[in-house]
Amino acid sequence: MQGRPVRKVVIAGGGTAGWTVAAALAKNLGELIEIVLVESDAIGTVGVGESTIPTARRFHELLGLDEAQFVRATGASFKLGISFENWTRDGERYFHSFGVTGRSTWMADFQHMWLEARAMGIAGDIGEYSLETQAAMANRFRTGGEVPLNYAYHLDATAYGLFLREFAEPLGVTRIEGRIRDVRKHGESGDIAALELDSGEVVGGDLFIDCTGFRGLLIEDALETGFDDWTHWLSTDRALAVQTKAVGPARPYTRAMAHEAGWQWQIPLQHRVGNGLVYCSEFMSDDEARARLEQRLDGEMLTEPRVIPFRTGTRRKAWNRNCIAIGLSSGFVEPLESTSIHLIMIAVTRLMQLFPFDGVSDALAQRFNDLSRTELEGIRDFIILHYHLNNREGEPFWDRCRALDIPDTLAQRIALFRESATAYQASDELFRIDSWVQVMLGQGLQPQSHHALGRMIGAEKLGASLDTLASNLRRAAQSLPEHQAFLDQYAGKAEAG
Ligand code: FAD
Repeated sequence: MQGRPVRKVVIAGGGTAGWTVAAALAKNLGELIEIVLVESDAIGTVGVGESTIPTARRFHELLGLDEAQFVRATGASFKLGISFENWTRDGERYFHSFGVTGRSTWMADFQHMWLEARAMGIAGDIGEYSLETQAAMANRFRTGGEVPLNYAYHLDATAYGLFLREFAEPLGVTRIEGRIRDVRKHGESGDIAALELDSGEVVGGDLFIDCTGFRGLLIEDALETGFDDWTHWLSTDRALAVQTKAVGPARPYTRAMAHEAGWQWQIPLQHRVGNGLVYCSEFMSDDEARARLEQRLDGEMLTEPRVIPFRTGTRRKAWNRNCIAIGLSSGFVEPLESTSIHLIMIAVTRLMQLFPFDGVSDALAQRFNDLSRTELEGIRDFIILHYHLNNREGEPFWDRCRALDIPDTLAQRIALFRESATAYQASDELFRIDSWVQVMLGQGLQPQSHHALGRMIGAEKLGASLDTLASNLRRAAQSLPEHQAFLDQYAGKAEAG
């Protein structure tokens, strides 16, 4: 054990990361620790980050947040997955749903039976066997009830920060507005001692959470932790973000549409749509990106398009000395699968599990860093998969992605699936087998072989069970209300009906 007992935690930064950390610590450890958050109105937040994954729901439950209140406060809509458009080639589409696809057995996962039936010509599209995909394609949604959907949210990032702040402050979090101009360190240990603000105020503490965004004011500027750059695998490095008016009912899914040097997102909220173009500056200039984005927007622009440069990679240690980087300060893997807010939530959950009540210890830090690294590398591989397996031949950016020397972990996974249709979820990995299968098949990876269970079941029985499953799911999806109608009712904008 080293260092002093942790009685006071100082959070530097008040974006989604800062307020998520503040809310979770105050709710769960507030009786034992004092929590101070410093943020600068002049610097502001990154202002994007509006698509989530289902773990956000579990995190909200942990905090005891009321879902309807959250949906109203953040202009949220519901999300059943992501529609990937033009990723294999222009005009093609697949859906990555949050649900379970088909029925797996102890001997073989569903894709094996589906591949057998497909070869026999008696299976539909794989999405027909997922309730979430069926509901998404029909624009239908409801929470609870007899048709349980696995879902996440689209939310307004600025409103979400405010919502969490309004939750955290009454629980005792002290907010200080001001710019941090310097980070003071203890002479002997080199640990962080205090933050010095422009006003001259000095904010001391025992444990510091760096939520200052890409800059990493504490973890990098002060502690020089180092950064592992992953741009050789994921070379997009800029985004152009703009908000537009909604032109139709909100879809219960995010759209990710590939273009010649990256992809475009479309995130429907109650009151507007979030849009952005992610691109690789080697292959597309900011002007070209702007022209491309404006050409592809559905509704009138509500804001000026804003360029956000980023670098894909990870801080060498998220937890270094008495400082823990959470959010963009800890690193960033581009937003294709909406994983950053999840990583913030999981990081603060992990911190509470490994909290150094009696003093910062190397062992706790090591465990935290190991777990964070494993999870992030799994996400990194999953994202690379989308880029690497593409058929957009003749486009230099995509040609390079196909030719990429990918991480061994991913290469082995692809080879295994190609050879035998076998997919797996490693321990401490975020994405389930369903996710890997949907994306590998969706990106056009055709297995050469599969488990023989489907053959043993036989064409007649297999065909009948797939037909029954698909029609039951279709009927269940059709029994749900329209997403927009449900949303209006849930958010209190329409009479309950
Ligand atoms: P920021 O929002 O940048 O906040 C930093 C805070 O630190 C601010 O309060 C700022 O004022 C403060 N600060 C900085 N310097 C100082 C200083 N000197 N003194 C005082 N305060 C200071 N994530 C998802 O989960 N889903 C998505 O769909 C998604 N899309 C994204 C799209 C893009 C293009 C990008 C770049 C990111 C996206 N993310 C997404 C990630 C998501 O935006 C972030 O994880 C999330 O917003 C958290 O950011 P943050 O709080 O770490 O940083």
